[in-house]
Amino acid sequence: MPETRTESESRKLLGRLRDALAEDSAGQARLDHVVNIIASSMQTEVCSIYLFRDEETLELCATEGLAPDAVHQTRMRLGEGLVGRVARKKRIINTANAPAAKGFRYMPETGEERFSSFCGVPIQRLGDVLGVLVVQSKAAREFTTDEVYALEVVAMVLAEMTELGAFVGEGAALSARHQQAVMFRGTVGQEGAVEGKVYLHEPRVVVTNPISDDPESEAKRLTEAVEALRVSVDDMLADATGGNSEQVQILEAYRMFANSKGWMKRMLEDVENGLSAEAAVEKEQSLARTRMSQATDAYLRERLHDLDDLSNRLLRILTGQGADTGAEMPENPVLIARNIGPGELLDYGKKLRGIVLEEGSVGSHAAIVARAWAIPLIINAKGITTEALNGDTILVDGDQGVAHLRPDETVKTAFRDKMAMQARAQQRYASIRDLPAETLDGTVVALHMNAGLMADLPSLEGSGAEGVGLFRTELQFLIRNQMPRRAELSALYSHVMNAAGGRRVAFRTLDIGSDKVLPYMKPQDEPNPAMGWRAIRVGLDKPGVLRMQIQALIRAANGRPLTLMFPFIAQLEEYDAARAEVDKALERERILGHPIPEKLEIGAMLETPSLAFAPDDFFNRVDFLSIGGNDLKQFFFAADRENERVRRRYDTLNVSFLNFLEMIAERCAASNTSLSFCGEDAGRPIEALCFAAIGFSMLSMRPASVGPVKHLLRRSNLHEVKSVIDKARAGGAQSVRPAVMEWLAQQS
Ligand code: PEP
Ligand code: MG
Repeated sequence: MPETRTESESRKLLGRLRDALAEDSAGQARLDHVVNIIASSMQTEVCSIYLFRDEETLELCATEGLAPDAVHQTRMRLGEGLVGRVARKKRIINTANAPAAKGFRYMPETGEERFSSFCGVPIQRLGDVLGVLVVQSKAAREFTTDEVYALEVVAMVLAEMTELGAFVGEGAALSARHQQAVMFRGTVGQEGAVEGKVYLHEPRVVVTNPISDDPESEAKRLTEAVEALRVSVDDMLADATGGNSEQVQILEAYRMFANSKGWMKRMLEDVENGLSAEAAVEKEQSLARTRMSQATDAYLRERLHDLDDLSNRLLRILTGQGADTGAEMPENPVLIARNIGPGELLDYGKKLRGIVLEEGSVGSHAAIVARAWAIPLIINAKGITTEALNGDTILVDGDQGVAHLRPDETVKTAFRDKMAMQARAQQRYASIRDLPAETLDGTVVALHMNAGLMADLPSLEGSGAEGVGLFRTELQFLIRNQMPRRAELSALYSHVMNAAGGRRVAFRTLDIGSDKVLPYMKPQDEPNPAMGWRAIRVGLDKPGVLRMQIQALIRAANGRPLTLMFPFIAQLEEYDAARAEVDKALERERILGHPIPEKLEIGAMLETPSLAFAPDDFFNRVDFLSIGGNDLKQFFFAADRENERVRRRYDTLNVSFLNFLEMIAERCAASNTSLSFCGEDAGRPIEALCFAAIGFSMLSMRPASVGPVKHLLRRSNLHEVKSVIDKARAGGAQSVRPAVMEWLAQQS
């Protein structure tokens, strides 16, 4: 074999490969042809392709030079032998003396003992390893940089071909990766089981032409596309300058990459060697993804993420596929996304049947929207965005946090049985819909629902809730692209009250900030937005919107009773100041001759521990208190509600938190202040049972939870539950959950 290879030889090899792949042979024959071409072009005795059969197993799928009988027989686990190590580490192994290399494992059936040198290159597409391409030779020598480069380019093309199912003929042993069933295990965001079709939030760009025979025109296309990319990044930067500094920083990094000479040079080299412009971009993107998965430094990971994003933009320019690839939304769409904000989710509306996110967090507002709509949601499903294709069948098991992509018939059947069972449970809840949540000891717990959109209101009838314990008014602000006007809001609130038909609706004034960012308001550059300028803090510092909202609510009530509450009150003075705004608004409306509410209740949300220790005066002055458990819990345990690593670390039924809630209930009872709990935990039956047992007589939850919570309350004696809790606390338990669960198990 010559020591150095010219670039045109690489190109010739790619040309021969392209011809072979264009032939009409069946999958296995085509694969055999490919290894034969590589071995002869590179003048090595052996060329083999190993592909994943499942997540953990690689199989020899084609070989030139090893024993033909070993094909589809020789298998190795991920990490096993040199091939397994290439796949696991996503790194090339190039050695003159394979038997002496770390991790070598001898596979007698292949007859490979005769070959001393070994070079294995991962076949990967966008950071996912599909298999390993190996060349071996008898002569003990390392393969040259040029040879390794040629192998990398070929591996890239193979990855594309495997991707497209180009090797797969009728009955071929090899199956394309994107046709296989895959299961993803994530975290439960919202329970429920649905069957649907994949709809990608950001569809992947499909590269259909990895090889080119006209490097000059490809280089021109690439150069023009990169130029267009640079212009678009400059434009974005010009738009963002003066705004959010984080965004500007990201764009600066984009610009740096877009102008990187090294990046451009490597891509042009690949094009020169026979790759199409798109494949050259993808090759770089694959490398960045591999590094991303291996980088331990968070900053570096972020930058590689930027490069990944930039590559996607470049691919869209090259292929002419915009963010919207024109894919039609299928029937029963299941949205697949890396992450999604509440505004984007609201844009989709209720038509989604399920949502699976690669990242995301249960405490986010997007998750809250999904729960409000009772759309099954799984988060942290690693790898789903690269695996799923538009239109794939998917089963979302929100109860287990599992998604089955392209499931086989057995899984589908079992899943459909489960859905039927759930439908029967729903019927059971429907049968108690009009009955009170009265426990066996005669305590009646008021169950209300959380809402935020007009579309939620019909659930009031269906769920059996007595009223709306929390109306998140910010959702109306989030779904618009400009600030709603007073008349618009007033009409909307009036509709809500009409739809509630006289039942109480607790309107919470605008709670923005943290992860609820209005697209038309200048974002704040804050190191820690959850503890930053949000909710009532914004309302009091810039009272224009708060005043407008209060006025809209008074006008909507048009003389009817009105209930409103302020979010995130941390001290008495904030409540007084907010209430003073209501008094002023009432006075103005009176002067203008508008009717004022016949009854007005003004409450506060207890979301920071400080408020639990407020002076008695506060408890005497406030008309009611509602615990925003999502925020309260995150501040009580100092555990970010959006950070999956810490969010579930502390149980809601941890005795410290339960004691704290009980203390609040006792202070409210002593001052005769009505109290409710409206965080997500109120909708979890066991949590709800414990809250009721320690003195909460009103709970507000998503509509779908009213049935299950009522069902459990009606079967329970709160005195007994309270004594189980007390006993667990006296016994030094960290959480009362195990004791309550055990008691429940004895009941049934
Ligand atoms: C809460 O914090 O529990 C709450 C109900 O408010 P949000 O989830 O909208 O912050
Ligand atoms: Mg809150």
